[in-house]
Amino acid sequence: MNPPAIADTSTWDAHRAALEAVLVDGTRVRREEPLAPKTTMRVGGAARLYAEPASEEALAALLRAAHSRGLAIRLLGRGSNLLVPDEGVDGLVISLVHPAWSAFEPRADGCVWVGAGLRLKNLCGLAAKAGLAGFEFLEGIPGNVGGALRMNAGAMGGWMFDIVEEVRMMSLAGEVTVRAKSALHVGYRHCSELDDAIALGALLKPAGQADGDTVARQIDVYRRKRQESQPREPSAGCIFKNPPGNSAGRLIDECGLKGERVGDAEVSPVHANFIVNRGRATAADVIELVRRVRARVRAARGVELQPEVLLFGRDWEDAL
Ligand SMILES: Cc1cc2nc3c(=O)[nH]c(=O)nc-3n(C[C@H](O)[C@H](O)[C@H](O)COP(=O)(O)OP(=O)(O)OC[C@H]3O[C@@H](n4cnc5c(N)ncnc54)[C@H](O)[C@@H]3O)c2cc1C
Repeated sequence: MNPPAIADTSTWDAHRAALEAVLVDGTRVRREEPLAPKTTMRVGGAARLYAEPASEEALAALLRAAHSRGLAIRLLGRGSNLLVPDEGVDGLVISLVHPAWSAFEPRADGCVWVGAGLRLKNLCGLAAKAGLAGFEFLEGIPGNVGGALRMNAGAMGGWMFDIVEEVRMMSLAGEVTVRAKSALHVGYRHCSELDDAIALGALLKPAGQADGDTVARQIDVYRRKRQESQPREPSAGCIFKNPPGNSAGRLIDECGLKGERVGDAEVSPVHANFIVNRGRATAADVIELVRRVRARVRAARGVELQPEVLLFGRDWEDAL
């Protein structure tokens, strides 16, 4: 990654000072925070500004200050559905990794309140312990609740919004609202309201009570299924959305693209819809491989594959 120009540096330093001035609870705003280690693909550059707020108050103060300075705001979950560009992200990247965002609170009515920062893996484990069935399909999705809501993550026949009752969210102006599922526009790998708002947490409804061992056994079944069908190398999961009525992985495989490589980015020989990082891949390598795969599938099968993985802070259309 190229270091930012000197003039830029002082501007970003001034933004940092202005943001930190509004924070009262010790939240720090960091400069040039490397993002690759915070993603599962492990590529890309740094965030010009980065913060891990510890409370709704700190988050709201940050958002208002960033908004008033015209800064782009990007939410980072566990970074498992993101490709960070090599030049990094020009704006404020916010992560809800502070433990304050990891609530798991079963309620008397049978629902459970979960914080946006709770990892799906922990959600599955805690649900099994509490004897709550219906969340098992989330096992093995390496995101957190916030990322899973934004992406409407799905696996094994289940979708995140199958289990959502309501979502608590904050606008980029710092205002909190609670929306019932029926008031949200949700589709394949998308929740429109979260394009421009931050999920703070959600009320989830389990399928019912079950004994913990039964839930844990089902989780094991799903875990083994994944281990058998998915590559071990760093990746961002499925790189393309499945076209309606078709499988992106099958199309890519049928075009003979397994093992296709640009630098250290490779179409996984294990699962053709995964691009894996064989060691030192750059975002540019991954983007070039995405371009190549799309062109081959388009030419051979007339299908235009759409990326499922998001290009953090940029539009794929500008990059492809
Ligand atoms: C090995 C592997 C297997 C995978 N398997 C699956 C699978 O089976 N099914 C599936 O659907 N996905 C799968 N994925 C993709 C990914 O794990 C999911 O999309 C997951 O939901 C992303 O969550 P995250 O926390 O990592 O979000 P990130 O990747 O960090 O972010 C994704 C998007 O959500 C936004 N976001 C994050 N947090 C918030 C928030 N609090 N409020 C608003 N927006 C937010 C981000 O800005 C970004 O736009 C897989 C990935 C890997 C690496």
